[in-house]
Amino acid sequence: MTKVPELFGSMVFGERVMRERLPKDIFKALQNTIKSGNPISSEVADVVANAMKDWAIEKGATHYTHWFQPMTGVTAEKHDSFIQPADGGSVIMNFSGKQLIKGEPDASSFPSGGLRSTFEARGYTAWDPTSYAFVKDSVLYIPTAFISFSGQVLDKKTPLLRSMDTLSKAALRVLKLFGKKPCRVTPSVGPEQEYFLIPRELYKKRPDLIITGRTLFGAKPPKGQELDDHYFGHIKTRVLEYMEDLDTELWKLGIYAKTRHNEVAPAQHELAPIYSTVNIATDHNQLTMAVMRKVAKKHDLVCLLHEKPFAGVNGSGKHNNWSISTSDGENLLEPGKDLKNNLQFMLFLTAIIKAVDEHQDLLRLSVASAGNDHRLGANEAPPAIISMFLGDEITDLLETLASGKEYSNHVGNKLSTGVESVPVIYEDTTDRNRTSPFAFTGNKFEFRSLGSALNIACPNIMINAAVADALNAFADVLEKEKAADFKKAAIELIKKEYVAHRRIVFNGDNYAEAWREEAEKRGLLNLKSTPEALSYYDRPENVELFKRLKIYTDEEVRARKDILLENYCKVINIEALTMCEIALKQILPAATQFTTMLAENIINLKSLGMETTAQKDILENVSKLITAAYGAQQRLSDVQLAVKNESDLQTEANLCYSQVFEAMQELRTYCDRLETLLPKNMWPFPTYGDLLLYV
Ligand code: ADP
Ligand code: MG
Repeated sequence: MTKVPELFGSMVFGERVMRERLPKDIFKALQNTIKSGNPISSEVADVVANAMKDWAIEKGATHYTHWFQPMTGVTAEKHDSFIQPADGGSVIMNFSGKQLIKGEPDASSFPSGGLRSTFEARGYTAWDPTSYAFVKDSVLYIPTAFISFSGQVLDKKTPLLRSMDTLSKAALRVLKLFGKKPCRVTPSVGPEQEYFLIPRELYKKRPDLIITGRTLFGAKPPKGQELDDHYFGHIKTRVLEYMEDLDTELWKLGIYAKTRHNEVAPAQHELAPIYSTVNIATDHNQLTMAVMRKVAKKHDLVCLLHEKPFAGVNGSGKHNNWSISTSDGENLLEPGKDLKNNLQFMLFLTAIIKAVDEHQDLLRLSVASAGNDHRLGANEAPPAIISMFLGDEITDLLETLASGKEYSNHVGNKLSTGVESVPVIYEDTTDRNRTSPFAFTGNKFEFRSLGSALNIACPNIMINAAVADALNAFADVLEKEKAADFKKAAIELIKKEYVAHRRIVFNGDNYAEAWREEAEKRGLLNLKSTPEALSYYDRPENVELFKRLKIYTDEEVRARKDILLENYCKVINIEALTMCEIALKQILPAATQFTTMLAENIINLKSLGMETTAQKDILENVSKLITAAYGAQQRLSDVQLAVKNESDLQTEANLCYSQVFEAMQELRTYCDRLETLLPKNMWPFPTYGDLLLYV
């Protein structure tokens, strides 16, 4: 096997390759652009493009693509070969600076939420030099932003980059008050990715999985996750081979794949990379998901990234570990040894508390999707109510400050392992409330509400924006103070803001019913469904916030809301149609066949004068369920059509949730019961047991 350090980043046009292949002055100019965001000149671009092309061709590339992230949430690419006609009917391989910097995909079919009418369909893609180009499948991938000709953003990368700038500026204002002047403050993210692996030959027999990414039918298997034997369990050979292959492919692409383990549900696993700057982490996470799917194919497996592929066992999420650090390498969320005296940490922390409380709606809607609706609040993922976990030590300190008393240090309880040779460890006073949506875990916050398929750009745009706004508000107050009074004023501000926003802090069990009641008393939002959450997107205060922070214009916010609502309706609609089809064409015919078989059997037995009670009983049950399932299918079909005709998007989405989704559940219940009664060889597709237990 190749040595990992040599393998790592071998397909990436990263700093090492640039240093080797670019003239010194060009390398410097490009680094300058990458680090400080200064624009690049066309001369520099030409040289970089040429070097990039030569390198890519050596790596087997024949094409290049501007790789971007339209508002569909997935990535988009259009390949162009490097060929250029030359004398005598031959070709040369060419790639110019202009082609590197700007592309013009015919982008008329990407959702724009009305930002771009089809007759002026063209948008353009612009190179993001801060995210390295790479070669995958004989194509040079160039990460780009996607913008309309009138300058409106049509993608997820541009607003993310804007939110990073805004956050940096706000944090620098606050740091200046502490006499610190780093060049930049950058958010880092480590996204933990959950996924399922199932055998490909079985997947192919499930139209629901193929069309919608999740099973729309399926009775519970005799063994699910109740024995808790899968989480961190021994990894089966076939899965391990997949994981090894996956790590290798990711390492080649410069992705820091670090941790791999089995998750709670059978056939469920997790991959966590080492954290990186948020726009890189976003690109890498998109890439990771694509590579996961591709490598699975090679192993005759299918990687499911849907948030809830199987009812009755855990769904998949993505934990977004977020921190902010300066260009001098200081993590601003590091409490330090002496928490009590770490004023700067306490100020940043309080800004985040304010941010999360004031913008619960934005955080909640940033993770809203039809798939994730199955998870949030289902006692396997945080509830739809956004709250924060700070741990006892920090909460005690803030409470003491708020009450004006002196704080005495909270020392972690000794945890004994009970094994002599293992040293006694101190209980981490900030750790591990697995039920909290937004938990402080020592030197970072873990936003746990994300669904597994989500592009992490949106939640990070929201966190960056919310925290930037709070930091700006703090700077507005503190910049007015004289240096001598700064410390006192900062403590006063922490007290005041903590008292105003402490309702968002909850260190208890977020799954408990009591928390729902308590949260309601505290006036926290509980936005249960995607349509409900999205209705908050364009509230006047949110539009104002995005405008103030120069992340979105009015139209861009509304466009995003419409795209998400539309997407939600489409997903539900496709699921409803798929269910109707499977019920009518596969399940009901199979069940009917079984009743014919039973009926014939009863007649035969009777003619022999034999007992038929059991057969009759089964026949009656199956017949009743056929009638019920058929009725439910008809209702679903009617309701789906009626809702589809609704002209207002928000109303349509609301009805999709309250009526179509309800009708889907009803149809499923009858069909799943039929599954338990039909002979195995008559059931038209693989069951949960087949899919989950046999990899
Ligand atoms: P756990 O499952 O216990 O939460 P993992 O090791 O699976 O932990 O994942 C933790 C994630 O947090 C990793 O991606 C890791 O790189 C990331 N991380 C660690 N420190 C930071 C930090 N300061 N900022 C952002 N992410 C971080
Ligand atoms: Mg983990």
